[in-house]
Amino acid sequence: MTEQAKERPRISIVAPAYNEEEVLPEFYRRVREVMDALGESWELILVNDGSQDNTLAVMRELHAKDPRVKVISFSRNFGHQLAITAGLDYAQGDAVVIIDADLQDPPEVIAELVEKWREGYDVVYAVRKERHGESWFKEWTAKLFYRLIYRITDVDIPKDTGDFRLMDRKVVNVLRTMRERSRFMRGLSVWVGFKQTGVFYVREPRFAGETKYPLRKMLKFALDAITSFSYVPLQLATYFGFAIAFISLVAMIVAVYLRLSTGRALLGQATTLVAVLFLGGIQLIFLGIIGEYLGRIYDEVKARPLYIVAETIGFDDRGPQVRTIPSSVQAPTAVVSEEKEAM
Ligand code: UDP
Ligand code: MG
Repeated sequence: MTEQAKERPRISIVAPAYNEEEVLPEFYRRVREVMDALGESWELILVNDGSQDNTLAVMRELHAKDPRVKVISFSRNFGHQLAITAGLDYAQGDAVVIIDADLQDPPEVIAELVEKWREGYDVVYAVRKERHGESWFKEWTAKLFYRLIYRITDVDIPKDTGDFRLMDRKVVNVLRTMRERSRFMRGLSVWVGFKQTGVFYVREPRFAGETKYPLRKMLKFALDAITSFSYVPLQLATYFGFAIAFISLVAMIVAVYLRLSTGRALLGQATTLVAVLFLGGIQLIFLGIIGEYLGRIYDEVKARPLYIVAETIGFDDRGPQVRTIPSSVQAPTAVVSEEKEAM
């Protein structure tokens, strides 16, 4: 083994944070307590997702106190999923844990995740048994979302499971090669396969501050999840088309029959108007659905960097192992060269 490999922490903890100044010191304290008790070397990677408050300053302080705390700071807000992605790109551990910084995912659960990992599982996800301290609306929409995703996608994404999970190095290496833009990390980490299992936990209320996922972001997130893992919305147009064509055919035959046998014609402008408007509405809906996919394809084609790092702290110029300006061609080479190193 090379000198560098020896210094590598065994476990990396990745925590995205957007305006979490009040939470971070307590978060760090609890993570440290849990990780020190585990007796493995570790690093805590805090990703500052373009916070407007003092989050970055707090992170700096934490790093000054404990160099195991490392910081990636984005040039602006790129969103939770991309913050996680950056964390995975920079993490060095043999296992990487993704956890929210707001203490809704209790750091104490990490011990259970690590235990399962030691038993030989490659992905250990944490399943929410209960949720505390969230509005009924959030709880209800989340439940609905997980059930919908579960039904319409081809991947068996476990229900009530967030991004809180542990992943083995080999899973992380595969994930790093997947540079798609509208990412639904928890779906991707299941999609890759390997040995997976879950542990249950109780989701706590936020330690401080409020949710950074307003309805608008939640909707976008849901659409990203659905479009990345399912064509069902596109296929719906086909089903609707067949159904409406069939009904119209029956109506046509009935109309002709009535006309010929009884001489009566079906009348009514209202019926015509309603039928036309109804179909017009349906067509617009499906144009919109196609647009959702098309827009995402356009985003992919532009191939802009997934995120932009303004500053890193504590990485000794190591940088991410996959370049931040990605291309699906570049990324696999990064993995290959790593494998060579290990040999
Ligand atoms: N977060 C982020 N960027 C964002 C929104 C959220 O990095 O644009 C972080 C946030 O700081 C937290 C985690 O992602 O650590 C989960 O967000 P939040 O707690 O607001 O979501 P909720 O738990 O309400 O679904
Ligand atoms: Mg939260």
